[in-house]
Amino acid sequence: MATARKTSARKPKKCADCGGKGETAETVRVGSRKMRETADRQAALCLTCFGTGEAPTT
Ligand SMILES: [Zn+2]
Repeated sequence: MATARKTSARKPKKCADCGGKGETAETVRVGSRKMRETADRQAALCLTCFGTGEAPTT
């Protein structure tokens, strides 16, 4: 009987914040007071996974 050995291929969990992309789309805001949103979106490094796209193990 061949025992199916489970390979411990650890699949890293996807980061919930960026969905595994490692970056988040942030709405660009202009003006410090009015906080007007522009149509532009800026790709920002995901601070949750630091751009790795993997959920941090804590
Ligand atoms: Zn992330």
